[in-house]
Parts: sequence; structure tokens; C-alpha cells
Amino acid sequence: MLKAAEQRDLLLKCLKALRLPTVRECYEDQAEEARREELSYEQYLFEVMEREREVRSQNRVIRLLRQSKLPLEKTIDTFDRNRLPRNVNAHLDVLLEGSFIDRRENVLAFGNPGTGKTHLLCAIGQELIHQGRRIYFRPCSLLVQDLLEAKRDLKLKRLLKKLSKYDAIIIDDIGYVQQNREEMEVLFVLLAERYERGSVMLTSNLPFSKWEKIFKDPMVTAAAIDRLVHHSVILELNLASYRLEESNKGRRNKKTKSAK
Ligand code: ADP
Ligand code: MG
Repeated sequence: MLKAAEQRDLLLKCLKALRLPTVRECYEDQAEEARREELSYEQYLFEVMEREREVRSQNRVIRLLRQSKLPLEKTIDTFDRNRLPRNVNAHLDVLLEGSFIDRRENVLAFGNPGTGKTHLLCAIGQELIHQGRRIYFRPCSLLVQDLLEAKRDLKLKRLLKKLSKYDAIIIDDIGYVQQNREEMEVLFVLLAERYERGSVMLTSNLPFSKWEKIFKDPMVTAAAIDRLVHHSVILELNLASYRLEESNKGRRNKKTKSAK
């Protein structure tokens, strides 16, 4: 028979080798509790393993949030859903549940500046990360820069492979700045690469009818739209600008205050 101290050492080594840090931390306290509460061996085992699982999934969410580069203040809790057109609001629950990712569907949000497109998609992205999904957020102009840089360094394939690991990529503000042909080519390559392989979520101030401004060439424009739309949910946010409304509210409040 091993002595208790030797037994403990061996167990700690074993838990370390198996990378079970939470079990390592909690097994003794849990064992005491199990003795007190007369738990079965199975119940005890479940308790310690469940803690390990819990901490791992929390750590995973923290890691995914960091990797996503999402603006973390744009959550669903700070988003006023009542401002959304009724059909978009109705659809939001389905999107938050995340099955569109399994179907590799795209989510395309259109509307004027300030209507909440970016906030909405970021909030959805953050909720999906809490379900353990991998999301990556990048403003379109920066994404295009990344792609161009990678192309120049002959690392485009590597970057595309890295991006392919994400369940969804949020491309924010496509077409906001006028891009040249080379820039749009790499963006097209990315969209073609993701087609039916992973979701694209994007925001745009430009309706499809004006996308030739983005992709320059009518054939390329048609091909890009075709791939994006094939399996997609389109959210039309034809609202007044939130920023404008808020600043008007502020102004009104000031007026009523000064009138008092
Ligand atoms: P867009 O991407 O359509 O230009 P944003 O998502 O950037 O608009 O929204 C502009 C600002 O207004 C942001 O600060 C955003 O957080 C806020 N905002 C927009 N819509 C809402 C909403 N429904 N509830 C809360 N804040 C909102
Ligand atoms: Mg935006």
C-alpha cells in the first residue's frame, strides 16, 4: 500500500499530465464534501469532472471573444430591439439561436448609416461565441488590407486558411470606401472561398443595385452577389439614424430643461 502522501503526489502528477487543472484544484475539497454528503463514487466523479468542463468552456468563451476582435460593448442587452422593423425583430431570435451557422447561411444587413447594422451583427456574433462558435469581426477596409498584404507576401493561402477556421466572418461596411480593382479582387477571392463553406455576415450602406461601385466589373459584381445571396438572410434596416435620433433627443431635453 502506498502512503497517503505518495498517493497524493502520484495523483497530482497524473492530473497534470492529463491537463485537468480544475480537478487538481478541487478534488480534495470535493472529496471531503462527498464524504460528508455520502455521495457515490460516480456522483463524486461527476462533480469534479463537471467543474473541469465548466471552467474549460468559460475559458474557451474568453479566448474566442479575444480572438474575434468584436467590439465587446455592442451586446444584445444594450441593443434596443424595438427600433427594428417588425420582420427583422421577429427573425432575430432565430439568428441568435445560431442554426444559420450550421447551414452556412449568410446574414446581410442593409440600411443607411446609423441604423444599427454594425451593432446588431456584433451583438449576434457575441451571443454565438457564448455558444462556443468562432466568429471574426473585421471592418471591410482593414480586411482588404490584410488580404492584400498577405497576397504581396505570398501568404494569401495561409490567411484564407486561417479565416476558414471561423464559423462566421463579420465584414463590416462593405463598399464604404471606394476600393480599387486589386483590392476588390482579393475580397472576391475570400467570398468565393467561403461560399457554402462558412457564413459571411456583412453590413452595407449600399443596396445591391449599387454594388458595381464596389466590384467595378459587372460580371464580378453579379458573381459576388450570387454567392452571397444563394443561402442568406437579408435584414433591411430602413430606419432613421439612431445617432441622429439620440442627438435630437438630447437637444430636445436641453430645450425643455432650459424652458423650465
Ligand atoms: P450602422 O452600422 O448602421 O451605421 P451602428 O450599429 O454603428 O450603425 O449604430 C450607430 C450607433 O447607434 C452605435 O453607437 C450603436 O451602438 C447605436 N445604436 C444603433 N441602433 C441601436 C439600437 N437599436 N439600440 C441601441 N443602440 C443602437
Ligand atoms: Mg456600421
